[in-house]
Amino acid sequence: MPRDWQTTLVHSGATVPPGFRSLVAPVYRGSTTLFADAASVADVWDRDKSPYTYGLYGTPTTLELAARLAELEHGYRTFITPGGQAALALIYFAFLAAGRHVLIPQSVYGPSRDLATSLLARFGVEVEYYPPLIGGDIERRIRPNTSLIWCESPGSVTMEVQDVPSIAAAAHHHGVPVALDNTWSAGVYFDAFRHGVDISMQALTKYVGGHSDLLLGSVTVREPATYETIGPVHQSLGFAASPDDCSLALRGLQTLGVRLGRIEATARTVAEWLSRRAEIAAVLHPALPSCPGHEVWARDFSGATGVFSIVFTPAWAKRQIGVFLDTLTLFKLGYSWGGVTSLAVPYPLASDGPRPPYGDRLVRLSIGLEDAADLITDLSVSLDAMGESTRGEQPGTVPTE
Ligand SMILES: *Cc1c(COP(=O)(O)O)cnc(C)c1O
Repeated sequence: MPRDWQTTLVHSGATVPPGFRSLVAPVYRGSTTLFADAASVADVWDRDKSPYTYGLYGTPTTLELAARLAELEHGYRTFITPGGQAALALIYFAFLAAGRHVLIPQSVYGPSRDLATSLLARFGVEVEYYPPLIGGDIERRIRPNTSLIWCESPGSVTMEVQDVPSIAAAAHHHGVPVALDNTWSAGVYFDAFRHGVDISMQALTKYVGGHSDLLLGSVTVREPATYETIGPVHQSLGFAASPDDCSLALRGLQTLGVRLGRIEATARTVAEWLSRRAEIAAVLHPALPSCPGHEVWARDFSGATGVFSIVFTPAWAKRQIGVFLDTLTLFKLGYSWGGVTSLAVPYPLASDGPRPPYGDRLVRLSIGLEDAADLITDLSVSLDAMGESTRGEQPGTVPTE
């Protein structure tokens, strides 16, 4: 039957030759996926039961990224989320309810703390923060209603490396699941599941993406039962990720190995150089003994990435550290990390808070793919400019070392 051209625009009979085998994973966009017949129409999130029912639960591009991450992290299955923060939220909402209790390290990523303190508390969840170096003593804080224990190792900004195996052993003694924010290790330098973790998440925004041009997250589980717990919540929260972003993450995975190798070497060189500077009181890099939990890093990790913090000696005030930051040229100032460009960002830490009393003296660095000697020159020139900026000021503001 002849049809109007407007119908043909929508219901085309055009064909292309079959058999194109792309070396790389194609980008499948799509909200609607077609069912073969009426009997197979179903709204199912579980790809084991029905691989494709709706674009929200994944396209082949999303599921390829998920499968590759599960493979890399030695997990059972992975959920992809629109960002790392969404991955955190998914875990919180999957395991907590009114009247339940969650234990979170004081060194946790700031927006994760905000989510727990301002949002979950509103829904009647009991939120408690514990010192990150607590180890097996976490057991004393476990209550009958404890439903989730978070770890983040090393912690954001202050970089404490946690004794995850001891925390997991105590948690499992009471049947409590352990979730880990494994973003720093890129999911590769710390084998979460071998160390007792039940749920491992990462901000793929960081090292997997690797080029500061996407936002994505992942939640990987060890057991089928955990997959069943999280799946319906992933569906209900509507955490769909863009197939285009997943395609960029798949591309990032292919070069993750070479980028991390290079970043690790450069970061260690820069960190060691900084540790010899008189202006710096401490270099918080897990591979250096000056980092809290360094022995645990040496025991449990197979490598280090490129994010670490430096703490200036008390001789330096916020304004002077501002001169250091403003003189940097290769290091850019900005949040997030894991891309090819080195970044610096100041993190004020209140002296009366639960975190170490670094005040305004902490700066976090993320090392990119620039040459190590050039980065050191940038830091050296900026430290000198900071020193110069104190000339002529009254005694007491001038560094004593
Ligand atoms: C960046 C980050 C997140 C959040 O990731 P987004 O993709 O920015 O939402 C979570 N945890 C850690 C440790 C991070 O550094």
